[in-house]
Amino acid sequence: MHIKEIELVNFKSFGRRAVIPLRNDFIAVTGPNGSGKSNVVDALLFALSLSSSRAMRAERLPDLIYRGDNGKNPDFAQVTVKFDNSERGVPVDEDVVEISRKVRLTKNKYQSIYYFNGNPCTQTEIHDHLSRAGITPEGYNVVMQGDVTRIIEMTPLERRRIVDEIAGVAEFDEKKKKALEE
Ligand code: ATP
Ligand code: MG
Repeated sequence: MHIKEIELVNFKSFGRRAVIPLRNDFIAVTGPNGSGKSNVVDALLFALSLSSSRAMRAERLPDLIYRGDNGKNPDFAQVTVKFDNSERGVPVDEDVVEISRKVRLTKNKYQSIYYFNGNPCTQTEIHDHLSRAGITPEGYNVVMQGDVTRIIEMTPLERRRIVDEIAGVAEFDEKKKKALEE
């Protein structure tokens, strides 16, 4: 399963709609400092609900909305991620799976809206769909800056937990523990 396309609308430094097509291959994003490379990764974390706003380098979610210098700022940001689902990594009968999230500012509040294949849904539903494909907040689908150093400095036991998590064994260990307690 791979990402075919990321669409950003008013997300962080992307002040208008930007569509990033991705091939099923090794991809590198290059550009000068501050040009928005990490913001593309933040967009993935945001759309797939894989991290807190702090990990996306924002104090709060509304900080993810584009702020220009002309004073007329948009009141929402949206990121849509299209996955190639031809191998049915997500168990729905569609060749493309589209996951989208919008953060919208209203008076003094803000809210997140989630979509699965264009239909509004809850964050839990997004998590459920993604975890079927092995994409989880605890997983290492996205390796962030500093993660590698952290992993190197772990004890062998802590490292083993990560391997268990990635291999999908941890989930069963947890279920087994619960079953034995019953
Ligand atoms: P580096 O090579 O230094 O890692 P980078 O290409 O990863 O740089 P990013 O961190 O993705 O750069 O982008 C940082 C830029 O995004 C900064 O210039 C910052 O002002 C801008 N930015 C962040 N949030 C917003 C926002 N809400 N509105 C407008 N610009 C924003
Ligand atoms: Mg960066």
